[in-house]
Amino acid sequence: MKKQIEKIVKKPAKPGMVGDGFRVYNYIPGTGIAQQRISPFLMLDFNAAYDFGASDHIRGVDVHPHKGFETVTISYKGSLAHHDSAGNSGVINPGDVQWMTAGSGILHKEYHEESFAKKGGLFEMVQLWVNLPKKDKLTKPHYQALTKDNITSVSLPGNAGVVNVIAGEFDGTKGAAATYSPLNVWDVKLRKGGEVKFDLPVTCNTALLMINGSAVVNDEEASEHSFVLFENEGEQITIKATEDAVILVLSGQPLNEPIASYGPFVMNTQQEIMESINEYQAGKFGVLA
Ligand code: MN
Repeated sequence: MKKQIEKIVKKPAKPGMVGDGFRVYNYIPGTGIAQQRISPFLMLDFNAAYDFGASDHIRGVDVHPHKGFETVTISYKGSLAHHDSAGNSGVINPGDVQWMTAGSGILHKEYHEESFAKKGGLFEMVQLWVNLPKKDKLTKPHYQALTKDNITSVSLPGNAGVVNVIAGEFDGTKGAAATYSPLNVWDVKLRKGGEVKFDLPVTCNTALLMINGSAVVNDEEASEHSFVLFENEGEQITIKATEDAVILVLSGQPLNEPIASYGPFVMNTQQEIMESINEYQAGKFGVLA
């Protein structure tokens, strides 16, 4: 049975700034899509393609904490860099994904990569927050640096395009990321006229974001930058691109656990949030200049 569409949300009217380097449209939860409704996904910020201009000033967001979930940064255009209180650092180039498990708590900085900042050019990225199950919230912070080369890519029949399996599994091909709960994150690229079919369980919360281009999704038109939320009813999704398209597909088993959320801390109870704030203020997440 065809998966029913609950709603198609247009791009929010205005972007917000995260620091001075991320000009983002917030789709989750900003467009009224509650965190429990789309669990295990907690947040989706989309920096639609934007040129900040060449600058010697490195744009970005200064030292800040995260605890209790994972941040997933997908670069489509432009390069960003990060470093953290555990001594890790890295660069995320187009096609790369950084999967950071903040777990028990970390401090980091995220900013435009220096040579990219100096040159300027289009910057296009997504940051997704993925919740951790209660039993894994205090896991030791760590990273999975997924590069364009180690993200498995499945070619679609008829030269229709590709599905890059960032996480989960598509058509028998397992994704690059290890996850704490069953979920799919797919970077789908379709040529104009290309078609792809997905079969996703009714129990999974499922949505997609039209990063570029437009498509017909189960007979409804999804324009560029629109976000399609599916009902938990039916399994089949057919996407036919009406122009070259880049689509981010998200699907996951809901965690069905309480969410207590305060800024960059996402726990299960208000008590745990208070403890997290205290730990942060006591310097327990480490030090970062
Ligand atoms: Mn961050």
